[in-house]
Amino acid sequence: MTGHAILYLGRGEYAPEYLKELESLPCCTMLMRWQRLEASDDLPPAVDLIMIEAGPSPARAGHTLTEFLRSLADRPVVALTDKAREHQGIEAVRAGADAYICVDDVSVEEQNAVLDHVVRRFRLTRRLSETDVTVLSILDNINDGAIVVDRTGHILDINPAARTILGLKARRMPDPSWEQTFCCIDEQGESYRNASDLPLVRARNGQKFADQVAIYRAPEQPDTFLSLNGQGLYDGDGELVGGVVTFRDVTDVKRLTNELAHRAQYDELTELPNRGAFLDQLRKAIGRSERRSMPLAVLFIDIDRFKSVNDTLGHDAGDEVLRQVARRLGRNLRIGDLPGRWGGDEFVVCLEDFGEMNNAGAAAQKLLLVLSERYEVGGSEVYATPSIGIALCPDSGNNAERLVKAAEIAMREAGKRGGGRFQYYSHALNSKLEQREELEVGLRHALVRNEFVLHYQPRIDLATGRLIGLEALLRWQHPRFGLLPPARFVPILESSGLIHSAGEWVIDTACRQLASWQRQFEMPDLSISINVSPRQLAHRRLVDAIARALDDTALDPGCIELEIGDGNARRRRSGEIETLKGLRKLGVRLSLDHFGTGDVSFESLDSGFIDSFVLDQSLIADVESNDSHQRIVRAAIAMAQGLDIEVAAEGVETLTQLEFLKSCNCDLAQGYLISQPMQTDKVSAILRSEIAGTRLLTRGMP
Ligand code: C2E
Ligand code: MG
Repeated sequence: MTGHAILYLGRGEYAPEYLKELESLPCCTMLMRWQRLEASDDLPPAVDLIMIEAGPSPARAGHTLTEFLRSLADRPVVALTDKAREHQGIEAVRAGADAYICVDDVSVEEQNAVLDHVVRRFRLTRRLSETDVTVLSILDNINDGAIVVDRTGHILDINPAARTILGLKARRMPDPSWEQTFCCIDEQGESYRNASDLPLVRARNGQKFADQVAIYRAPEQPDTFLSLNGQGLYDGDGELVGGVVTFRDVTDVKRLTNELAHRAQYDELTELPNRGAFLDQLRKAIGRSERRSMPLAVLFIDIDRFKSVNDTLGHDAGDEVLRQVARRLGRNLRIGDLPGRWGGDEFVVCLEDFGEMNNAGAAAQKLLLVLSERYEVGGSEVYATPSIGIALCPDSGNNAERLVKAAEIAMREAGKRGGGRFQYYSHALNSKLEQREELEVGLRHALVRNEFVLHYQPRIDLATGRLIGLEALLRWQHPRFGLLPPARFVPILESSGLIHSAGEWVIDTACRQLASWQRQFEMPDLSISINVSPRQLAHRRLVDAIARALDDTALDPGCIELEIGDGNARRRRSGEIETLKGLRKLGVRLSLDHFGTGDVSFESLDSGFIDSFVLDQSLIADVESNDSHQRIVRAAIAMAQGLDIEVAAEGVETLTQLEFLKSCNCDLAQGYLISQPMQTDKVSAILRSEIAGTRLLTRGMP
């Protein structure tokens, strides 16, 4: 802006030195000194700004300050004062002056800025349309921050709320480059400074906008997140003269949203992208690879025998190993490769731009080596090897879920071949994938199409040989593949979330069947064992389903035993604990299944929730020849007796096994020796013979 003509009215209290200084300012081209001016005197027309001396002034003889200032109303007025008389400056502004300058405080440069600012602001205000005058007049009194700029970016007004939010010193008017202190945020949440997107620039360019989120990023100050509205300011003829931006501080909201978004995308333990975030990124990568006709690979990594780390060293050590695996993945991948945690001890990696096909194998080989190196955890050394499956896009599939599934199938193949190796997905494995997909689709209709069946396997009391209960075992009568065992479909039920409704069906059917047998054969103590998966345990629905079944059948809750597949009570999440408490309250019995495998450890027995456990069939299978298994079985039974916990052994196939278990005082037994799992009518026949006194195990029973 060119210099302003300034008229100085007063007795010259600050002149002549002060006025000389003013004359040297770039914004003052002309200076007139009138020692006296009556309010009625005409002002010289070229005057841009009037300076008055605050306090009693000859120019005001016979008039109040307000009257005097009103008489100058078509020019902006700045009152001069000094430190001792600052209150008079404030008084002048209250009476209508546009600003006051305390000559002791303010450097010449700063005065230059104030004078320039006052002239610009005055001109803009004079030009504004009536509506916009109203807009500006309320800005000082609103709780939102407000900034007014002219067309060239000069800041003309900053209300008190804006100063507080932005941490600006009072009275300072920043220069136009201050617009750059604001940063825009793009869709990915990244900040950027594109001049035309900056809020102050948008407003002064006449763009109207609402809820733009931007960051105020001043030096030595934490970022402030703002939600801004903006619009242009127009004169009476509709010509754009500037803009106004109002805003509020949304830093806390933004921080919370960011944190939630982070939590939703990243795995808490390893800080790697979680399953959902990985799939999202993978989809984008597949898109890129298709556009560029470049191959892409997905690696599926599983840590072999990871459960034994948990069992021998505890879960905290297991968690630490997983964290170290994640770190090693991060360190040994190239920029652009994407690692993620699929769940448990399973990791995934997406490799892009890896050149030749067999480079994916080279990358897998490298990961094999680094992940097989020693882990140091709490003073112990842990060795673990991974199994890695590789699926290539587009050969193995071109959608994200299918690729990961293919890599997982290849990983399982690597595991079956001993682990510590990698395996490419091949079309020979394809039929497995297709079958799995067919099963997945079929399972969605299995319930409504009545394709689930329960088989029941008797459990006997080893002391008396009497049949005391039955284990309900789920089967699926598949229209194409025939009768399928749970190993083929329960994992799919679990991963698809269908386990809840299927589990409810099992509970309902098994309880009704038990009630019917108890009535028919007058066996009120006959019990039923129902397998529940850990996923069901995490959900309140399980308690509701049991309560419903008890209501419907009027069964004694003590006749229902729930077999829980995985056992470490110390690690249970609060949701699971709630479920266990709910179940105990209903009075049903809780049992740990597969005791003696990696899934269940000794410490889980002492959790106060458990009434019994089932020795896993892998322990029983070679108990005749395996000394260590004999010792484990004996110790487990002895310990159970100490804790007043009942022990059942499953998978009993030979008399020698049965005799051994009896010699250890094992309570209950189940297995092909006694009976295979059977359909309902066969069980009815057996119960009938049980009543008649013909024991299941009459022959050869010790
Ligand atoms: P589990 O609870 O350990 O069930 C015993 C399994 O051992 C059954 O296999 C049974 O058929 C088999 N079995 C019984 N006696 C012998 C024997 O003497 N020798 C051998 N080798 N095997 C024997 P199945 O029915 O295939 O069930 C496998 C697993 O599927 C069950 O193991 C259980 O964990 C799970 N499961 C079964 N039904 C359900 C269900 O309704 N819900 C859930 N979540 N899981 C179920
Ligand atoms: Mg079981």
